[in-house]
Amino acid sequence: MKLYCVFGNPISHSKSPLLHNYVFNALNIDARYIRFHLESSENFRELFFEYGFSGANITIPFKEKLMCYCDSLHPLAKKINAINTIVREDSKLIGYNTDAMGFYKNIENKNIKNALIIGAGGSAKAVAWILIDNGIETCIINRSLEKLEYFKKAGFMCFSSDDFKISKYDLIVNATSSSINNMLPLPKETLDALFSQSKIAFDLMYGKTSLFLELAKKHNLIAIDGSKMLLYQAIDANRLFLKLPYEKIAKIMNKAYYL
Ligand code: NDP
Repeated sequence: MKLYCVFGNPISHSKSPLLHNYVFNALNIDARYIRFHLESSENFRELFFEYGFSGANITIPFKEKLMCYCDSLHPLAKKINAINTIVREDSKLIGYNTDAMGFYKNIENKNIKNALIIGAGGSAKAVAWILIDNGIETCIINRSLEKLEYFKKAGFMCFSSDDFKISKYDLIVNATSSSINNMLPLPKETLDALFSQSKIAFDLMYGKTSLFLELAKKHNLIAIDGSKMLLYQAIDANRLFLKLPYEKIAKIMNKAYYL
C-alpha cells in the first residue's frame, strides 16, 4: 500500500485526507493519505523515507522550511520559493507548488487585466507569480516594508500602507491573514475606494465569510473565497501523485468537496 500525508503544525483541521482518500477509493488504488503533525523540519528526509511515504503535501509553517530537503524543485516552486507538494521518485524527492495554479483556476477566463495583492507572505508570492506568468499586471501592498523586499527585487510594483495611491484594479486579492482575525487588511475607506472601481475580490481564507468579502459584496463585486483554491491545489497534487490527467482527478475530487 502506498502512503501519502499532509505535514503541518497545527494539522488536525486539514481536509486533505478526505479529498485524497476519496480519489484513491474511487479509483481502487491501494493507497492511504493521513495527517502528520510535524514538530520540526529537522531530519525531515530520514523521517519521510522511514515512514515510506510516496508523496506529501506541506502546509503552514513548513512550505519554505522543507524545500532544502528536495533533490529538485519544479521551476514555479523555485520562483515562488515555497512548496506545498512533494513527490517521491525512487530515492529522489521532487518539490512542487500547486497553490499557485489552485488560485489561478478560480479566475481564468474572467478577463482580468491588472491586480492588486494585499499582503506579502508565502501565499502572496504564489499568487503574484501565477498572475504575472499569465500576463496580468500585478502590484503588491503590504503594511510592513520588510516582506516587500522580495517583491521589489523581483521587479513587482510595491506599495507600503503609507505611500499607496488608489488606482483601478480589476482584481483585488486579500493574501493577508487579517480575515482569520476578523479584521480588514486595509482601512475601510481605502477598500471602499478600490472596490468601487473593481470587478473581483478574492480572499484566500476559507471556512467563513470574511469582512473583506462582505464589503466587496456591498459594492456588487464577484466575491471569491479560498475554498476552491484548496480544492484545485489538491486536485493538482493528486494528479502529480498518481500521474493521471487533471480532468480525471477533478471529476472525482469535486464530488468529495461537496460531501
Ligand atoms: P504569511 O504569514 O506568510 O503572511 C501573512 C501576511 O499577512 C503578511 O504580509 C502580513 O503583513 C499580513 N497581515 C497579517 N495580518 C494583517 C492585518 N491584520 N492587516 C494587514 N496585513 C496583515 O501567511 P500566508 O501567506 O501563508 O497566508 C495568508 C492567508 O492565506 C491565510 O489566511 C491562509 O489561511 C490563506 N491561505 C489559503 C490557501 C488556500 O488554499 N485557500 C493557501 C495558502 C494560504 P506583515 O508583513 O506586515 O506582517
